[in-house]
Amino acid sequence: MYGGIVSKTLPAICAFLLFLGGGVVPLHAAGTNEGALAISGGVLSLAGQDLSRPRPVRGVWKVQVGPPVADTEPLLVTVPPRERRYFTPWGERLVTGTITYRARITDVPTTSPLALEIPLVFGTLRAWVNGREVVAIGQADVPERSRVERRVLVPLLPGTVGGSPGDELDVEICIGSSYYPYGGMTHIPPRLGTLAALQRSRTVLAFRDGVLIGFVLLVAMYHFLLVFAPNKDATHLFIAVFAAALAYRFAVADGEMFLGAFLGLSAEAMLRLQGPAVYVLTPLYILFLRQLLPSESTHRAFRVILRVSAVWVVAAIFIPLRFWMDLLFWYYPIIIAASLSIGITILRAVRAGRDGARLIAAGGLVLLTTGIVRIFSLLGFYVPPAYCHALGGTVFLLANSIALSRRMVDFRLSLANLREEAQRDGLTGLFNRRTFDTRLQEEWQRHVRSSQPLALMMADVDYFKRYNDALGHQEGDEALRIVAGVLQQHAQRAGDFVARYGGEEFVLVLPNTEIAGAYQLAESIRRLVREKEIPHPESPERLLTISIGVSAVIPEQGTAGARRDPRDLVKAADRALYDAKLGGRDATRTAPLGE
Ligand code: GH3
Ligand code: MG
Ligand code: MG
Repeated sequence: MYGGIVSKTLPAICAFLLFLGGGVVPLHAAGTNEGALAISGGVLSLAGQDLSRPRPVRGVWKVQVGPPVADTEPLLVTVPPRERRYFTPWGERLVTGTITYRARITDVPTTSPLALEIPLVFGTLRAWVNGREVVAIGQADVPERSRVERRVLVPLLPGTVGGSPGDELDVEICIGSSYYPYGGMTHIPPRLGTLAALQRSRTVLAFRDGVLIGFVLLVAMYHFLLVFAPNKDATHLFIAVFAAALAYRFAVADGEMFLGAFLGLSAEAMLRLQGPAVYVLTPLYILFLRQLLPSESTHRAFRVILRVSAVWVVAAIFIPLRFWMDLLFWYYPIIIAASLSIGITILRAVRAGRDGARLIAAGGLVLLTTGIVRIFSLLGFYVPPAYCHALGGTVFLLANSIALSRRMVDFRLSLANLREEAQRDGLTGLFNRRTFDTRLQEEWQRHVRSSQPLALMMADVDYFKRYNDALGHQEGDEALRIVAGVLQQHAQRAGDFVARYGGEEFVLVLPNTEIAGAYQLAESIRRLVREKEIPHPESPERLLTISIGVSAVIPEQGTAGARRDPRDLVKAADRALYDAKLGGRDATRTAPLGE
């Protein structure tokens, strides 16, 4: 039941994901409608209103269909050659032209100057107070320049515009499609507040933009660096580029057009910059997902979407600007298809119990939620808090980033476990012969440099074949484990290590140890094995014992002769062991090198 709901809804949910990520959606809505001031009958009374914090103003915008009057209103000049449809926050399809906003504001406080904030997306703005045009803050002088400061502030200064303090202000604001072929755009509602508070709020928003873009860039950098990590995982490259593209998108399309403002780009250039920002995100995420979840990916659909997206990216760069919105419009089916495929992929991964799949699905749900809120706001039902949309994208990115990082950690751990296992002997847990060879070589080199003695003992179980024959291999294995334990117990100092040399033979390497010290240690090992009193029915003593050969040397640099090769140390210990066996077993003998 639960699974059924998930399987039916998740793809549908994910269908929205990239719709949200792909559209030209402004980062900031103008704020919530909470505490909104209402203009009723065209009149807004400010009596008793606290404007130290900017407040939204709900009013009526008048949409004028048709060409603006170019001669008298030079800022509202450009009329597109044909009609464009644009879905506005008003829920209307705006045919390019102008929109005006008129209000009579009464009981204006005398204490501090007020301003009206109009968050423009594209378009130009002219404002009149008491019939006189006022210069807006953030308004560019010529239409060819970009809207660097899109949160345009219209100062409402009674003293300087002809009225006297406390007077009424007759405000008229006119926004035109201006230079942009597809119409002017603004968020609603505008906000009213003291000029100082609104300016502060603009600074805070610009700062938040910077933090957000910076954070996303950090995620990008983190994964870029991991591309060069030892295990070379290309998945990091794709998510790094995806994150960088997202940051870029925030910088050129959302935010206050950070990048354009920073570079002082023309409006046309800024529009051009948006193309790639919009169309690369979907394919980049698909490339990433294909790497992350290769067996769950809907490969055929992904391939088609990647190719089509490539066409759109190229088109966005070269297409005449007036077709820009059409290009976007026709991309939506692709975004929906991509979202479905991505949703199916994530769903399959969740079902297959892939690590991080649930996390990515959860991140997708957050993006979906902010997206639904976004759609509501476009339909005019609800104005979400600033950052709602960008936050969804950021959370989604973060979920994917964490999922990939966790996979990397798991991979590292299992790799480390594998390495560790490969170094050990399965029966006793001691280092195996191969590890012994490499570690002995390392110790040897270290001792060549330090000119310290390196000791080695070789231990062999006495009459072990008979032990096996009498008691069986199971018992033999158990005895080997006990002997291994005793040896390990004696490898106390840093650098000491025990290995299983083969069969029932063990080696113990003792760095910085003289032969006398090694001999004493060997004797105590031998005695301890005997004291374990493991019954051995076929040995003269009726107890399991071991014999040990010990040797030590100060290794030297060079190519020929004894003291030049760790194998000579092993040979010497082996000779000493042979000696111990000849002498009757259950004994320790030493031997010098090179005889
Ligand atoms: P000595 O006192 O001269 O060392 O006689 P020995 O019987 O111990 O020596 P030999 O080399 O003839 O026999 C070694 C035996 O060790 C042969 C083999 O059955 C036994 N062996 C080797 N590896 C294992 C193992 O992993 N498990 C068990 N149970 N026995 C092993
Ligand atoms: Mg042996
Ligand atoms: Mg033996």
